[in-house]
Amino acid sequence: MTDWSRLTSRLTQRQQQQLIRQRNTVETAQSAEIISNGEKLLNFCSNDYLGLANHPQVITALQQAAVEYGVGSGASHLVSGHSKLHHELEEALAEFTGRQRALLFSTGYMANVGVISALVEKGDVVLQDKLNHASLIDGGLLSGARFTRYLHNDLASLTQKLQQHQTGQQLIVTDGVFSMDGDIAPLTDIATVAKQHSAWLMVDDAHGFGCLGPNGEGSVTEAGLAAEDIPILVGTFGKALGTSGAFVAGDEVLIESLIQFARPYIYTTAMPPAIAAATLASLKLVQTENWRREKLQRNISQFRSGASHLGLQLMESVTAIQPIVVGDAEAALMLSQQLKAQGILVTAIRPPTVPVGTSRLRITLSASHSEQQVNQLLESLEQACKQFKTTSSRLN
Ligand SMILES: *Cc1c(COP(=O)(O)O)cnc(C)c1O
Repeated sequence: MTDWSRLTSRLTQRQQQQLIRQRNTVETAQSAEIISNGEKLLNFCSNDYLGLANHPQVITALQQAAVEYGVGSGASHLVSGHSKLHHELEEALAEFTGRQRALLFSTGYMANVGVISALVEKGDVVLQDKLNHASLIDGGLLSGARFTRYLHNDLASLTQKLQQHQTGQQLIVTDGVFSMDGDIAPLTDIATVAKQHSAWLMVDDAHGFGCLGPNGEGSVTEAGLAAEDIPILVGTFGKALGTSGAFVAGDEVLIESLIQFARPYIYTTAMPPAIAAATLASLKLVQTENWRREKLQRNISQFRSGASHLGLQLMESVTAIQPIVVGDAEAALMLSQQLKAQGILVTAIRPPTVPVGTSRLRITLSASHSEQQVNQLLESLEQACKQFKTTSSRLN
């Protein structure tokens, strides 16, 4: 018999700390309303910000491409897996982001790990915001470069780290929109500091791409910056675009280097071509249907004003990510369960995803939510908080 005792003790510990994670099995397509484990729930924790994951045109594009190109891509991009559809999507993304070239990756996680580990190595320095996404952190660690984290959105801390670590090439890495807090990085200032130090600058815009900018170009355009200010741009398709995969956009030299040196690009099967076709269809909707961003913005405003009316403590976020920090992991879990009992799905986000003591309900809004559904969320939050206060005072 295999001895699993070190695993069982880690699992027990996680359980005791109220940090064990569970999966909800969803039985319907992504939309404002889903059925999970037989229960009908209003979904307020998906990243399908523009309501495109289940859009008829995106579905049709996927179906038609599957008929013509089949399902599997058969090989990696460098062998025989790079189809015409992948290539068209790369060209569309380069044009949309105003860059020379773009390169597809199968997931955002792989794009981030691939870019960082291809660009820097032992002897270089990676400087990351404390709240950067796990995939960026992992890329930094894997690269072998010296790894340092600056205080969240703190220019003074970033500058100090740049001065402290001056060996080799410096690479500054930040989320455009922070995934667990919803706030936006001060990209203009970061770009200035990067230039002053001749550091490379990479922005992971997983949550800004599609949502921010006049046509959904993302945080860089929203900040009024040009491509040369943010030379390395990563965007993902699993969020606002409603499909799956990711891209890196930038200069010819950057993209050619990634094709040659990014191991998560080279040693993996290309995404199904039909996914590229679906993403192209989705990209067109992102570019042309401004009403989706406007509706999302109205839902965000409605939620924020309603929540502050209820006396809830909101974070500095103008984006679709509207967390309510509860603090304690157990308390966050309890609130999430109380919401679920009222038909609202909002997962509790706990350490190690967020720092200890900042467990939260990560509420996300989408253009697919109606005004009435946002009201329902607010009413349920009010109920859940009342119940929670009664329960916790009984416990104390
Ligand atoms: C979701 C996310 C990723 C990972 O993208 P996937 O395509 O889901 O692998 C990377 N960075 C950030 C900031 C994210 O939120």
